[in-house]
Amino acid sequence: MIVRKLPQEFLDARPVIETIRQAGFEAYFVGGSVRDTLLGIPIHDVDIATSAYPQEIKSIFKKTVDTGIQHGTVMVLDHGEGYEVTTFRTESTYQDFRRPDHVTFVRSLEEDLKRRDLTINALAMDETGRIVDMFDGLNDLQDRRLKAVGDAHERFHEDALRMMRTIRFASQLDFKIEEKTLRAIGENAALLEKIAVERIHVEWIKLLTGKNPGRGLSAFYETKLYQHCPMFAEYGETFNRLSRRKLEIKDEIEAWTLLSYCLKMDGKDSAKLLRAWKSSNETIAQTAKAVAALESIAARSVTRLTLYNAGEAGLKTALAAARQLEITVDEDKLINDYRTLPIKSKKDLKVNGGDLIKEAGIKPGPKMGEILDYLEEEVLFGRVENEKAPLLELAGKRTE
Ligand code: ATP
Ligand code: MG
Repeated sequence: MIVRKLPQEFLDARPVIETIRQAGFEAYFVGGSVRDTLLGIPIHDVDIATSAYPQEIKSIFKKTVDTGIQHGTVMVLDHGEGYEVTTFRTESTYQDFRRPDHVTFVRSLEEDLKRRDLTINALAMDETGRIVDMFDGLNDLQDRRLKAVGDAHERFHEDALRMMRTIRFASQLDFKIEEKTLRAIGENAALLEKIAVERIHVEWIKLLTGKNPGRGLSAFYETKLYQHCPMFAEYGETFNRLSRRKLEIKDEIEAWTLLSYCLKMDGKDSAKLLRAWKSSNETIAQTAKAVAALESIAARSVTRLTLYNAGEAGLKTALAAARQLEITVDEDKLINDYRTLPIKSKKDLKVNGGDLIKEAGIKPGPKMGEILDYLEEEVLFGRVENEKAPLLELAGKRTE
């Protein structure tokens, strides 16, 4: 098979492959970009695999950066673009069910493709668009099927992350998982515990924000992978139920918000969950805000304080999650209520600590914080105008 109309990214990278070939080596496009081109979807990074060893690549090109030289990856700089060029390799002796202890560079494309996870990810393409298909990946692509390269059981046993990758592709591409491959995931699910949470996290979010999360979630439940993820073991039924919903999740915060709600977690429990999944503090804080807002929306108890605490982003995330869960809510009204709040944050208050000290004779300390909180709420609920004079007067009364 030949791809006639190569996406621009490949045309731009073509000189790199040609240069390697002219030096007497083989070089191909490999991985996700080849798969996505054949599926007609936009590609991101273009990866090149070659029979040349890293030192040979470095001697062929003037400008290179050692981005991952121990794994055989050199970044070649060409016309202001960087291309990752990786030497064909095999990954021998996986002793701990995760990354190989060492890689061996080889000269054979077939050896390199053999160590890849799924047949659809084991396609190579030369600079003219000719596809090299050694594991029937084209057929699986055509039938929208995820199938491990070689013996599925062995492949997941070698590297347990591949199981999460498989179910995330089920969601991302809306592909089915071939029977033996699915069974092998079930048999090896417990090995997921050997994998760093950060790496599972990446796949999990891609799954939830994919095209058909239900498909990924259903495999997540069926294979019992969930039992080997942080704090998920008790929630099989929730994942099972969730897998039957048609979900369309925009980003990570929305994903965690929706999930926290379905797992019946309040802001605090949700923060615990996210910490166990090694999320950033920023993600934890944003999710907690959206979770609190979603709870109020579901309980029909939204007040100005709910909106104020959620902030615009938190409110929008909560509304998007509510939509997924078919919780009825007048979205426009809540957005409008938010926009017409007298203040959006403490910074909008017309007095600050300094004013209270100078003009209301209040001493710095915890009492001052309480007064500011009080003023904030009074302004928010429209019980006092957000102007300096009435606020100072109110503060003065409060200290009496
Ligand atoms: P994405 O579009 O999300 O980048 P991808 O398939 O390109 O998907 P990458 O992580 O960029 O995923 O990996 C590039 C290629 O390397 C894959 O297509 C696959 O051939 C191979 N690969 C990646 N991770 C593994 C793994 N854990 N085991 C085997 N092969 C892998
Ligand atoms: Mg990729």
